[in-house]
Amino acid sequence: MKTAIYTSDAFLNHDTGHNHPESPARIQALHDLFASDFTDTSLKQPRPADIEDIAEIHDESYIYDIMDRIPDFGYGCADTESECILSHNSWDALLLSAGCGLTALEDINHNGLTRAFCAARPPGHHADYAAAMGFCFFNNAFLTAKIAQSRYGFKRPAIIDFDVHHGNGTDALTRRHNAENPNQPIFYASSHQSELWPYSITKAGDPRDNTDYVVNVTLNEGANGKDMLDAYTKSIYPALKAYKPDILILSAGFDAHKDDPLAGLALKSEDFGALTSAIINTSESGIPIISILEGGYEIKALSRCVSAHLTALL
Ligand SMILES: [Zn+2]
Repeated sequence: MKTAIYTSDAFLNHDTGHNHPESPARIQALHDLFASDFTDTSLKQPRPADIEDIAEIHDESYIYDIMDRIPDFGYGCADTESECILSHNSWDALLLSAGCGLTALEDINHNGLTRAFCAARPPGHHADYAAAMGFCFFNNAFLTAKIAQSRYGFKRPAIIDFDVHHGNGTDALTRRHNAENPNQPIFYASSHQSELWPYSITKAGDPRDNTDYVVNVTLNEGANGKDMLDAYTKSIYPALKAYKPDILILSAGFDAHKDDPLAGLALKSEDFGALTSAIINTSESGIPIISILEGGYEIKALSRCVSAHLTALL
């Protein structure tokens, strides 16, 4: 099995300002982890996504609007809640973050890669067709799934999102794609804490709106690793198995950890290893897996969770 981690020092230069939870320290902690515990794993540089790539899933004028908001100095902002902060070096980070999954696809296609982890920021799963939201600008996971299908011959890409927040952007983009391409659906499943942001804003993520290809599962505040595994067994795996994915994209958020400041679930770091193994064991054996970092805001916990995730994945 050929595996790799994709990351870049450019992710350290996306400055979001003092006390912003989506900080460069998140990636620095992972770079430290890779240097100490994953020295045998291939560490690769992503190529930046270009506008043409990103325009496969986002409105082109929206992409240029984000570019125009990059300030020469100080900070800019791309959303109404003032959470999507931009600074002078952000553009490079945005393109490289979107490019990680695309580089992994190229290596799957040409170099026999089977599994990858993208240690990238900013995250992507809240970004919708023409809207930045929740620290996210471009939807990295959905872009990877879409291009896997449009350029690399994968017929049935599935996205599994275990970030504690609902990936409302990925949900909306998946439904949009599936309405326009009923014969080539993309699959999206999300487990998330109920009554947590952005649920109150988007009204999305309610299991009552599930389809064959969009499956949302909610967990009550305080839910632990066993509750999470049970929810996958009960609600997500049957739909995933019926879909028969030929490539798996993981929206790998680690903010369901008990120490995370932005949410209220109670997973331990080793639970992310168990969940990763369970997802792999449920999928068709041998299909490529590209895991892309989403949330996870308690720095020490993030490092331990990613370590458990990678030990199961790579
Ligand atoms: Zn999150």
